Amino acid sequence: MNCALVTGASRGLGRAIAVQLAKDHGLYILVNYATNHEAAQETLAEIRQAGGDGELLQFNVQTRSEVDHSLNQWREQNEGKFIGVLVNNAGITRDGLFMWMPEKDWDDVMNISTKGLFNVTQNAIQQMLRKRSGRIVNIASVSGMKGVAGQTNYSAAKGAIISATKALAQEVAKRKITVNAVAPGFITSDMTKDLNEDELKQMIPMNRFGKPQEVADLVSFLVSDKAAYITGEVININGGIYS
Ligand code: NAP
Repeated sequence: MNCALVTGASRGLGRAIAVQLAKDHGLYILVNYATNHEAAQETLAEIRQAGGDGELLQFNVQTRSEVDHSLNQWREQNEGKFIGVLVNNAGITRDGLFMWMPEKDWDDVMNISTKGLFNVTQNAIQQMLRKRSGRIVNIASVSGMKGVAGQTNYSAAKGAIISATKALAQEVAKRKITVNAVAPGFITSDMTKDLNEDELKQMIPMNRFGKPQEVADLVSFLVSDKAAYITGEVININGGIYS
């Protein structure tokens, strides 16, 4: 059975992506989250309401031992199932001017995004390489494309994700694994709930924030057979913000 692992799927973009992959592709969804068990259960309930199925898989993406323990144990208990789709979505922001940025805010943002991508992808890709099939979608950001003041840590983390996407895509293309990035602009979620939407939307040509569902539809396309020849790309989804 084909499965999709979506990191950070308890809320926001990850939840919408998890539900959409179940709906569009009939994938069995592994709903990863860090601490928010209740929210993750709601994601699973939505997947089931949509006619799909899956299970929760709690681990902190930045801790290698947790990632390996959780995924290796799951694989041992689920012979015959194959994680053919990986969406590296888990991410956080800790905004502030670089001059006063605490070291921890730099490390946490970098580690969850970039070390998280390394830990989860290196584990999941082994089976994809053996099966000569796989789809990896990394959630980057407009901040990683253009750099945003007050987000030096986040811009660095997302820029690294974009470069890693392009490099890894070239390494695994022969094995029919595609690796792409999606770079959203402002999307309504917990991450953006404290931003001044009325002020910010004035700089968005479409004059609104995006919806998690709109990002989910794009990820679903990249995972589909129709996107088989797209790899190493970064697809912007930002309502027209120049990047
Ligand atoms: P969100 O609503 O804050 O949700 C973050 C998700 O990541 C939650 O499921 C959270 O799990 C999980 N997570 C955080 N740290 C984790 C860790 N160490 N290990 C595993 N999971 C972890 O954020 P969002 O807006 O949906 O953002 C999702 C992704 O899109 C992020 O990579 C973000 O950078 C990117 N993005 C968002 C926007 C936007 O405007 N919203 C724009 C561009 C890019 P818990 O619930 O357990 O905490």
